[in-house]
Amino acid sequence: MRMAFVCAIVIPLAGLVAMSGDGMELVRDGKATATIVAPAEDPLAYAANVIQHNIERMSGARLPIITCASEASTPRIVLRVRDGAARLDGFRIRSGDGEVVIEAASPRGCVYGAYALLEGLGCRFYGVEPLGIIVPERASITVAEGLDSLREPSYENRFPSTGSPEDHIRWGLHFTRFAKSHEQAKPAERLNLSQWSWGHIWPALVEKRFFADGSSPERMNYDKHKDWLPADEKGKRRYNGQTLCFSNPEALEWFTDNAVNWVLASFGDADYVNMWSADTLGIALCRCEKCKGRGWNATDWYMHVHNVIWRKLKERGWKNVFGWITYHGSEEPPESVQLPENGRQMDFLYAPRPRGASQHGPYTNHHSTNVIQFT
Ligand SMILES: [Zn+2]
Repeated sequence: MRMAFVCAIVIPLAGLVAMSGDGMELVRDGKATATIVAPAEDPLAYAANVIQHNIERMSGARLPIITCASEASTPRIVLRVRDGAARLDGFRIRSGDGEVVIEAASPRGCVYGAYALLEGLGCRFYGVEPLGIIVPERASITVAEGLDSLREPSYENRFPSTGSPEDHIRWGLHFTRFAKSHEQAKPAERLNLSQWSWGHIWPALVEKRFFADGSSPERMNYDKHKDWLPADEKGKRRYNGQTLCFSNPEALEWFTDNAVNWVLASFGDADYVNMWSADTLGIALCRCEKCKGRGWNATDWYMHVHNVIWRKLKERGWKNVFGWITYHGSEEPPESVQLPENGRQMDFLYAPRPRGASQHGPYTNHHSTNVIQFT
């Protein structure tokens, strides 16, 4: 099983850069005093632009970007890739002798490093503009000497869940959101990007019947299938728009066929489909005696259903990757259900935030520990 990590923000690095009159001046009284050194292309060029753009917003000063370090006087900010600089797409920031050096083993690490430097200068990148980005006003900007900060992630892949194919190339990613029409898919094809799709589809799969030929879905009528509906704590079966009684073989068969129809009709060509349950703690599980009798937690049920969908997709000749999401703080690691074939062609997204944003579970905030529990 491959592992990925999805987030829309960059992790803050408080205290990385001190504001000090004794350090390296990048800007003095609104005038640029430093230079940025980076290649003209690839994610390092993007990282350089991110620094230039935000320092200009902070101070009004536009730091020049040049490609050749030997032509840049000090002080300067140098972005470079070096084997072994940091694990995966981590980064290292060092300062001294008139230089701030942002290094990474992969180009994307330098993008993270650029944002980390800006966060150290007081910027915040919580989400999309205008509300999600905070840029303080500074007439002068100084970076402390003697910094040496290494940041390395616990995850193989990290990526923002928004953006265009061009944005994803700038980040050095090789995949982007699946485009349904041929016309919309052209940028991704031109850039040779794999295409993914994901989202909270379970409620729609409960609500509607999907068809393999792609015709419009119809509202599902459970009048003749009341026993497919989940039971509440009092044993009363009722539609909750989130799940069914999956210990009922007919309900499981119908729901997983419905999911397969949805994948093949909507995303048959996607390289990667990640199908998420409802956005609620515990997936509002069926509480009938049979379901309770399994003793499974919500993630066990979630994986059980996914395993059936995966098997059916493979039987239908679908060759791509199928996955699910785990939210920090509201999803327990599975206890009973295993993945088929050790997770071959399956994928696992870890979102470092609780489901529904405001729900908090009893789990640790230590994301690498959470991921180990799941894997
Ligand atoms: Zn049940």
